Amino acid sequence: MTLRNKLLLAQVPLALALLLLGVLGVSTLGRLGRAGQEILADNYRSVLAMQRIIEHLERMDSAALFIVVDERRRGLELADAHLQPLEAELKVQENNITESGEAEATSQLRRAWARYRSAYEAFATAETPEARRSAYFDALAPAFREAKGATQVILALNQDSMVGKSDALRRQSRQVNTLMVLAVVAALVGGFLASASLTQRALRPVSVLSQAVQRLGQGDLATRAVVEGRDEIAQLARDFNGMAEALLQYRQSSLGELLQAQASSQAAIDSLPDPVVVFGLDGSVLNINHAAEEVLRLSLEGGGALGQVSPEVREVLERVRSHVLGGKGPYLPRGYEESVRLEGPDADRWLLPRGSPVYGEGGGVVGATVILQDVTRLRRFDELKNDLVATVAHEFRTPLTSLRMAIHLCLEEVAGPITPKQADLLFAAREDCERLQGIVDDLLDLSKLQSGRLKLEVRPVSTEEVLESALAPHRAVADERGVRLSSECGLELARVEADPERLQLVLSNLVANAVRHTSRGGEVVVRARHDGARVRFEVADTGEGIAPEHQQRIFEKFFRVPGANSGGAGLGLSIAQEIVQAHGGEIGLSSQPGQGSTFWFTLPGSAREEGQG
Ligand code: ADP
Repeated sequence: MTLRNKLLLAQVPLALALLLLGVLGVSTLGRLGRAGQEILADNYRSVLAMQRIIEHLERMDSAALFIVVDERRRGLELADAHLQPLEAELKVQENNITESGEAEATSQLRRAWARYRSAYEAFATAETPEARRSAYFDALAPAFREAKGATQVILALNQDSMVGKSDALRRQSRQVNTLMVLAVVAALVGGFLASASLTQRALRPVSVLSQAVQRLGQGDLATRAVVEGRDEIAQLARDFNGMAEALLQYRQSSLGELLQAQASSQAAIDSLPDPVVVFGLDGSVLNINHAAEEVLRLSLEGGGALGQVSPEVREVLERVRSHVLGGKGPYLPRGYEESVRLEGPDADRWLLPRGSPVYGEGGGVVGATVILQDVTRLRRFDELKNDLVATVAHEFRTPLTSLRMAIHLCLEEVAGPITPKQADLLFAAREDCERLQGIVDDLLDLSKLQSGRLKLEVRPVSTEEVLESALAPHRAVADERGVRLSSECGLELARVEADPERLQLVLSNLVANAVRHTSRGGEVVVRARHDGARVRFEVADTGEGIAPEHQQRIFEKFFRVPGANSGGAGLGLSIAQEIVQAHGGEIGLSSQPGQGSTFWFTLPGSAREEGQG
């Protein structure tokens, strides 16, 4: 059955109740109407007849009185007019006897009427007025009273009966009223209950379906709506079940694929031998690999806090994380000296941090991946190389000194006169010795700086003096090469916190490079100015500039721009970088090939100076 038919069927009890009420009402009304009609037929007709008989009797009595007072003709006419109608009414009454005692009263009336008529005959035929008067008073008047009395008895009988019947009718109608009200209430309640229960039965599947939809909404994909039948709701339930099945299959397949993808990406980072830590945007640890668990003793339980990690490693992780999350791009270590030592059970490990941003769909940084590369062996090689370089440089010094001394003595002709050609050769040899000495000195400085053996003697230094003494040795060369060399120093900054000799070395290296790489007619300017709490030094030239691909590596040890005319072994800028960083400063450059370069570095300003100013 369709839902529409079921709903229509549910209305049937109410309709039936209405029908029942209608039938009951019509039949009761009919019964009441009949009772009223009975009163009219049984009693009212008799009452009417009696009233008319009395009327006729009284008119006939008046007629008799006309005859008594000698109005004989008028009296006879009047009496004749009422005789027949009275007879007819009496017949009506005789045919309408309904009450007990009414029959006797009627026959009494008939007898009294017969007597009245015979008395009237005698009265009407009397000859003399005296005879008529005595006939009236002796016979007619008593017969009149008797007949009227009998009529009134019948009248009273019927009126009493009418009153009784109307009382009964009123009672009956009141009962019918009550009965109708009760029947209406009962039919309404019964019909409503039946309709409600039928409607509920017809709509129960809807609530089953709605519960199933709710459960599905809450994520229970295994839920099904059980609705029997072939109506619209059962069809809807079948469609719903089909949809839930499809969803379940989709969820199972997509979840499976998702889990597989996650497992394989986890396996990929687990396969890396170095510890990997993935940070979220809020800085919390999102993921780690096996190596991180084992080497760093880090675990994702407990919110992935870095508390268990040793303080040095934690400091490095936090530094790299804030670098990457701060939007400064990937974090690349400058060298092995940045690696952090991690004490192990057998031997110490050296871990070199690297960080790269994790980008979200919108292209923004949503996290940071930090890899701690195990560079224990590489660092060992680096140390060996540094040691070797330092040892070789050191070993070179003494022979180099005696070589320079020997060449000097030869040039001074201490060992005898030399020819001009020999002198030329010895001059060239002395120049090369000077260069060699410079490189050896650079190498020694660098190895001292890198091994941390070099102690800085930091104190407030007058910037202007440092600038002047750094420029002075280069003025002659600059003049010779036709390069203008100048300095700009803001008067307000007088002092900087630095080791003056080392600072001079940095400036000297930068100025020497600038002069060397600037062609005739060019300019080299050295500036110093405040940069917040720091002091920024700049050495700007108008020389050949440096190609972008070389700018990255320019501070590396032994790096020289290929094909460029270089004075040294590619150590000057590395030394400058080491010294600036040992002061806690930064060094960098900006350069356009063909338009010149600007090398800059920052140093902490003098606190005492600031206090005074
Ligand atoms: P070197 O002592 O050999 O000059 P540096 O470390 O001082 O080594 O410099 C490395 C390289 O950088 C040099 O080979 C040179 O080509 C380049 N360079 C340094 N300064 C400048 C500059 N001001 N202009 C152009 N090139 C420069």
